[in-house]
Amino acid sequence: MTNTALQSPALTAARIIDGKASASILRARIKNAVEGLKEEHKLVPGLAVVLVGEDPASALYVRNKGEQTKEVGMNSFTHRLVETTSQADLTALIDALNEDPSVHGILVQLPLPGHIDSDVVLSRVSPEKDVDGFHVVNAGRLAIGQPALTPCTPLGCKLLLEQAIGSMRGLNALVIGRSNIVGRPMAQLLLQADCTVTIAHRYSRDLPELCRRADIIVAAVGRPEMIRGDWLKPGAVIIDVGINRVPSKNPEAAKLGKTRVVGDVAFDEAVTQASQITPVPGGVGPMTIACLLFNTVNAACRIAGVTPPAIGLS
Ligand code: NAD
Repeated sequence: MTNTALQSPALTAARIIDGKASASILRARIKNAVEGLKEEHKLVPGLAVVLVGEDPASALYVRNKGEQTKEVGMNSFTHRLVETTSQADLTALIDALNEDPSVHGILVQLPLPGHIDSDVVLSRVSPEKDVDGFHVVNAGRLAIGQPALTPCTPLGCKLLLEQAIGSMRGLNALVIGRSNIVGRPMAQLLLQADCTVTIAHRYSRDLPELCRRADIIVAAVGRPEMIRGDWLKPGAVIIDVGINRVPSKNPEAAKLGKTRVVGDVAFDEAVTQASQITPVPGGVGPMTIACLLFNTVNAACRIAGVTPPAIGLS
């Protein structure tokens, strides 16, 4: 697909970018690739996930990651450590995983308990096994355009954009948010795709005007429905990374503490302006774990000296 779709204003409701369906396609392709690696190279990619403490949301993420890893035929190793685990014990486990030849990817579930320095722990993971892409070596490689393990959420956004638009060359892309996990790596990926990239953050002036100039917007702020429909250029493609819990629309349910999840973009307004848009939930979210599996396959191939299989959505 070319990017000509972007040149005409949206006359009707935007196409909804179905991240759930795309993630399922990506997982199926990863599963095929894993079968091929087993047959041709006797290589079974392995992902180790480390969870420290009892946080229920983190425990759920870790369980989902383990299940999806096994579903695509890879080895899954989950290490559950007690909340009081010392930093020394955690780094000793990471050292052991770095040395373990059956482990190709290491993920330390964040947040870590307050007594542990996350930066120290994340930088202990071997850059070759850093499937979260948070190690400074991978951030540096990405920044200078070298092959790198790339943070999973922005990687998922890039794959959705490629599938939605095709070539992004020359388009104006606005990334809202500059975190190391989403905004910054996203901007690097859009630059690699030959976009003209603007990064907005909490001190940026006139965000509505920046939005009006953008053919592509990736919103990663964490503020419910902050980006309004009338800020958007007609026909823009919108990727909404935000996950924000707000009270239920039903006042009775809200009184009982019921909530719903919304993105950083006012979806009902944006859907009449944009040409394509990700919903929340069901947009970027499902792509994140699929991209973790994708990174693990790539890491395993690089470590084994095997050419990584071409896996993507396009
Ligand atoms: P963060 O808090 O680390 O960063 C937020 C960024 O937004 C900062 O760079 C800040 O400068 C910027 N910002 C704050 N107020 C702003 C404003 N008024 N105008 C412009 N920029 C502003 O958050 P994060 O970790 O990057 O996550 C962002 C959102 O994405 C959160 O809602 C988070 O839950 C969500 N998220 C989703 C996934 C997923 O898998 N879908 C993954 C990671 C994060």
